[in-house]
Amino acid sequence: MRPEELLKLFQNVGAIRQGHFELSSGRHSATYVQCALVLQYPKYAEQLGRALAAEFHDLKVDVVASPALGGILLGHEVARAIGCRAVFVERDSTGRMALRRGFELSPQESVLVVEDVWTTGGSTSETMRVIEQAGGCVVAVGALIDRSNGRLEFPVRAEALLELKAESYEAALCPQCRAGSTAVRPGSRSTRTSA
Ligand SMILES: [Zn+2]
Repeated sequence: MRPEELLKLFQNVGAIRQGHFELSSGRHSATYVQCALVLQYPKYAEQLGRALAAEFHDLKVDVVASPALGGILLGHEVARAIGCRAVFVERDSTGRMALRRGFELSPQESVLVVEDVWTTGGSTSETMRVIEQAGGCVVAVGALIDRSNGRLEFPVRAEALLELKAESYEAALCPQCRAGSTAVRPGSRSTRTSA
């Protein structure tokens, strides 16, 4: 799947939008990405999982791991394409990411960590830490979209299907705010309208 095809798919379902947005981090950006809007279609989820899996065809992968909640569907589809199993990490009662539900890793199992979007890469890094503490060996990391503007450096091989140039700013430094526009919070707004 070529980057331009992926971009078109995301734009067609409204998963990438242009405007003036306040991201969940509090930063402002002219670009909003919501992968759930494309992954809600099983045929697209399967297609994207296959495309991401293909990036790692030369690696031996025993397990795909992803951070809950956003990474679960994608991780499952990548594992389907590879023909291996998929596990996910999630917050425990103390708020720390952990491997729960009886998921186990055999010593030295090769693990591919996948996530939908990299902005800071924090969830992927946390997932890597949990997997390694559980005895797995993370051999690579992948994402559908990298919107970090080239700032990410993972200690293993990293592949994203699309590098999206999408600056974000501290609210006080946002050029659109300075021009008099007000940012919208796409996630919370759609929650209110559906309630
Ligand atoms: Zn702004």
